[in-house]
Amino acid sequence: MHFETITELLNLPDIVVVDALDCGDNHLHLVVDVADNIGPPICSWCGAEHTSVHSRGQMRAEDLPLLGRRVFLYLEKRKCRCPDGGIHVEHLTWLHGRYTRRFAEQINRLTAITTNTEAGWFFGLDDEVVYRIDRAMLQEKADDLLAPTPAPRAMSVDEVAWKKGHSYVTNVVDIDKRAVIWNHDKHGKAVLDGFYETLTESERAAIEVVACDGAKGFLSSSRYYAKNALIVLDHFHVKSYLSAAMDDVRKQELAKAKKDSTQEELAGLLHCKQRFILLRNKPSRKKTQVLKRLEQLNEPVYKAMLLKEQFATIYEYRQKKDAQPALRAWIGDALRSGLAPFKELAMKLFRKRHYVLNFFEQRITSAISEGINNKIKRLKRMAYGYRDVAYFLLKIHQHCGLLNPRRFN
Ligand SMILES: [Zn+2]
Repeated sequence: MHFETITELLNLPDIVVVDALDCGDNHLHLVVDVADNIGPPICSWCGAEHTSVHSRGQMRAEDLPLLGRRVFLYLEKRKCRCPDGGIHVEHLTWLHGRYTRRFAEQINRLTAITTNTEAGWFFGLDDEVVYRIDRAMLQEKADDLLAPTPAPRAMSVDEVAWKKGHSYVTNVVDIDKRAVIWNHDKHGKAVLDGFYETLTESERAAIEVVACDGAKGFLSSSRYYAKNALIVLDHFHVKSYLSAAMDDVRKQELAKAKKDSTQEELAGLLHCKQRFILLRNKPSRKKTQVLKRLEQLNEPVYKAMLLKEQFATIYEYRQKKDAQPALRAWIGDALRSGLAPFKELAMKLFRKRHYVLNFFEQRITSAISEGINNKIKRLKRMAYGYRDVAYFLLKIHQHCGLLNPRRFN
C-alpha cells in the first residue's frame, strides 16, 4: 500500500506517513512526519508559541483502529525553551497524552455507556489506562461546560451515599434541562452554600424553584441565597419518606412474626422479597391479594399501607387550598395510628408543611430526581470501586448531566 493512501485514510491534520514497521494482522506501526509548515511549537507548559526549538524527541501514540487493526504512530515531537527557563515538549492539538485525541474521545464515549473494564476490553487497554484517559477527558469537558456553573431556573438538590458508611455527595439538578449541573463531595449547608456561591447575584435572584428533601441545611442555605425561590419539599422526597416509614413498620412486624411459630404465613408475606410488592406505587392484582391477606393477618402493616396510599391521594388535588385540609387530616391519622415511624413522619411533615404545600404552587416533576437517582445507583453498580470521589462526581456528570455525549448528537 502506498503511504500516501494510508496518510489519506488516517486523515489527521499535518501528518504524513513515511514508513511502516512491523505490520501484522492485528496492528499497524506507522512512522509519521509532522509537516514542517505548522509553525513554531506551542509550549505544553505555558501554552504560548516559542520560536526556538531546543531538541526533538521520539514518541509513540495509539490511534483509532483502522480496518480492524490497532494503529500505532511513531512521531517526533519538538521541545522548546520556555521563558520560565524550562525545556518543554510541544503541544499537538490532535494528541491526548500517548493517544490521539479522537481515540481518547472514543474511549470517553464508550465509558458513557459501559464499564471501564468492558471499554478497556473492547480496545485492548487495561482498566488503569481507561481510567486515566476517561478522567482527563471528563475533567477537560467539565472545565469547558460546567465552569462557570450553568445557572438554573428550577433546581432540585439531592444527596446520595456513594460508599458504604457515611460518604455522601450532593447533586444539583436543573429541572428544565433534566441534568445534573453541579455536584460536590459531602452534604449539608456548607456544601450547598458552595453551589450558590458559584452563581452571580443576579443568577441567584433568577432561581424560581428549589426542590429538596426538606433537610435543615438545604433549607437554610436556599432561603439565604435563593431569595426569590419557592422552596418545595416535593412529591418524590415525600414518597421516599413514606416508603421508609412503611418499610420500618414492615421490619418491626417481621421481627415479631419470626419469633412466633404461628405467624409463619405472615413472616412470608413480610419477607424482604415481598417488600417490593408492598412498596410498589401502582395497584396490581398481586398487591391487592397481599393486602387482603395482610388485612386479616397484621393490622400495623395494613394500616401503614393505607397511610401511604392515603398520602398519594393528596397529590390528586390541583389546588393548595384543597390539599391543605387533606394534609392536615393525614397528619392527624398518622399521629393516631400508633405506628411510631408514621408518628415521627407526621411530626416532620407538620413542621415542614409549608414546603410540602408549596408543591401545589409549583408542581415540579419529581420524575427527574427519581430517574437521576436510579441512574446514579446503576452507575455505582457499574464501577468496581471509584477510588476517588472526584472521578465519581465526573462520572455523575457524564451519565446524568451535561457531559453525557448523547446530549450532543
Ligand atoms: Zn512555555
